[in-house]
Amino acid sequence: MSYCTVCKIETDYEYDIALSNGQYVHYSCILMLQMRKHEIETALRLQKSQLTLSLFVPTEVAQQDIASEAEVEDLRAKLAKSESILTGLYDYLPCWPPDWEERKRLLIRENGSICSRCDKEADVYLVHDIPIFEGGTNELDNLALICAECYRSVYREVDFFGDFTLKPSQSEFSEQFSAIQSAIDNNQKIQFDYKKPSNKRWMTRVVVPERFLNIPNSRESGETLCVEGFCELRQDTRVFALERMQGLEVIED
Ligand SMILES: [Zn+2]
Ligand SMILES: [Zn+2]
Repeated sequence: MSYCTVCKIETDYEYDIALSNGQYVHYSCILMLQMRKHEIETALRLQKSQLTLSLFVPTEVAQQDIASEAEVEDLRAKLAKSESILTGLYDYLPCWPPDWEERKRLLIRENGSICSRCDKEADVYLVHDIPIFEGGTNELDNLALICAECYRSVYREVDFFGDFTLKPSQSEFSEQFSAIQSAIDNNQKIQFDYKKPSNKRWMTRVVVPERFLNIPNSRESGETLCVEGFCELRQDTRVFALERMQGLEVIED
């Protein structure tokens, strides 16, 4: 049995999130924390504008509407606490975290806008060192900045329109490959059970497949065959490794 790391209540619903550190969290608990953070931010903003207003037009603001220094401090401490809880959860989300841009800014502030591969100063992308589907986390030490040129050479893009060919080492996937290829060609959806190394459970995904990708890995075969597509569960574009799929079916709408 698994328990939510936030509220400590059992998690057994399909949409609970299996974090990549082996813990679980209710989707609703993440939403609740995000709302809490938003409320504190709103309260702080309101205090700031009340304070400004009271300095310029004192008659407009009742004295009791202005928070004391201590109250503002208290709000700030609450905000810091809720941010740190959320960051701790985002670290292990099995998808790109909502604070991805913030993480990128942090790394740029630390290291400059420097590509971690070629050391050139450039406009950089933020990427995972170990991809999420290989069990990598969103923690800062698994993230790297990379320039457009290096990005293209690492994440070699392949032709969208059917020119993708399987490498001999990937022949074990030929059946799934041709099923997905035909779904791409005919604008059909695919459905499969998916499990990442960090997850204990299989989850059924319905995906509109768009293209195949070979993503480099550190294993002998060198590349992981993946399909990129729109995931209906996550309501976003996601990349799925064929080796982590089971029971693949092409489905009609
Ligand atoms: Zn919970
Ligand atoms: Zn580079």
